[in-house]
Amino acid sequence: MVNYDAIIIGAGACGLMCAAQAGLLGKKTLVLERNDKPGAKILISGGGRCNYTNLGTTIDNFVSENPKFLNAVFSQWSVDDTIQFFENFGGIKPQEKTLGQLFPTTNKAKDIVATFTKLVYETGQDLWLNTLVKGIQKVDEGYELSIERNGKEEKVKANKVVFASGGLPVHKLGASDFALRVARQFDMEIVQTAPALVPLTITGKDADWYASLSGNSVFARVYNDKISFEENILFTHWGLSGPAILQISSYWKAGETFTIDLLPKFKLEDVIKQERNDGGRRLVGQLLNDYFTKKMVDALGKFLPLDIKIASLSKVDAKLIIDTIHKFKVKPAGDKGYDKAEVMRGGISTTELNPKTLESKKNPGLYFGGEAVDITGWLGGYNFQWAWAAGFAIAQDI
Ligand SMILES: Cc1cc2nc3c(=O)[nH]c(=O)nc-3n(C[C@H](O)[C@H](O)[C@H](O)COP(=O)(O)OP(=O)(O)OC[C@H]3O[C@@H](n4cnc5c(N)ncnc54)[C@H](O)[C@@H]3O)c2cc1C
Repeated sequence: MVNYDAIIIGAGACGLMCAAQAGLLGKKTLVLERNDKPGAKILISGGGRCNYTNLGTTIDNFVSENPKFLNAVFSQWSVDDTIQFFENFGGIKPQEKTLGQLFPTTNKAKDIVATFTKLVYETGQDLWLNTLVKGIQKVDEGYELSIERNGKEEKVKANKVVFASGGLPVHKLGASDFALRVARQFDMEIVQTAPALVPLTITGKDADWYASLSGNSVFARVYNDKISFEENILFTHWGLSGPAILQISSYWKAGETFTIDLLPKFKLEDVIKQERNDGGRRLVGQLLNDYFTKKMVDALGKFLPLDIKIASLSKVDAKLIIDTIHKFKVKPAGDKGYDKAEVMRGGISTTELNPKTLESKKNPGLYFGGEAVDITGWLGGYNFQWAWAAGFAIAQDI
């Protein structure tokens, strides 16, 4: 039996970085992965192109009960470190698409995974695929894992175990609640989990209105009392999707309302005033056609008097138009669930972990990184930046 410095559970973003960095430090790890290939989620990320970091990453781009926890990890591994790492070891040059989001210039997520597999094998790490970790027990010297490898039950032991087994989203990519179960077993606090970066559903009397706009996308500002995002929203036959909706979903809870400014770059009050100064001969619908598709304007006709001349608009009607466009209230019925979510919100409480090493305070030798922890990034490469940084930090300590 090989004497490993650590066993890493999960060959995803955090686990692969951890193994690669451990290898570069001359350590020996065993990575256990239930899938038949490493990096399943990386491969499909960013539509197969992998948005692997974000130039603007700060702790403000993360949802957590304690985002400041990230300072100690991000001071060890920065966005520049991510860029340099993939350039040096994978020959990957970054290209910025939008809002600081970096992708490989080749647009191929598989180049990111290949960078890791090359390093993992070249530095002599062991990677067992088709290996499900089913349980863990504390033993005199470290921990014993019960695994099912290629259909056979086995036990493996190590002094240190890294939980890089991810969160609950997307079952078919290997998602599991394993880290959460283990945290409960070892008496660690868990922040309530929920799907995040997830489309939201609309039911009830407004459902048909949203469905009638299915396929329409609008640049909007979506906000609540905590946060605001300016990106596209997409109407679908079951509700709302698109980047701005995914972003706000991480700050939304069932029963809450948020607001959409459908015309964030303009002030409709001023637009109407100008139109009145110009004679106000056009109809409300004609004015709105300057800013929205015909389908959208027709749909807005459910709420607004489209056939009134701007010159004849009452104060009340003008206010109705301005409020509907700039303060469109949305009360989703729910979300599309873990299989449509990009990440999990909540997870193992940061209060349980040493902020520098990500080792459990109560259970020396157990480490937790990536999505399993109560650190959830915005859409835009932040989740990978956290996963890489966590993998690096853990590798220093194992
Ligand atoms: C569709 C989609 C697109 C995304 N695009 C982006 C993007 O472009 N940019 C970005 O920053 N983030 C993106 N994300 C989020 C990002 O993929 C995750 O935040 C990140 O992969 C989390 O890394 P992790 O290592 O914690 O978990 P994962 O990468 O999910 O890895 C966990 C691994 O552990 C394995 N595992 C789980 N349980 C066990 C067990 N019991 N035994 C053995 N193995 C186990 C799993 O099979 C998996 O391979 C996307 C997510 C999705 C779903």
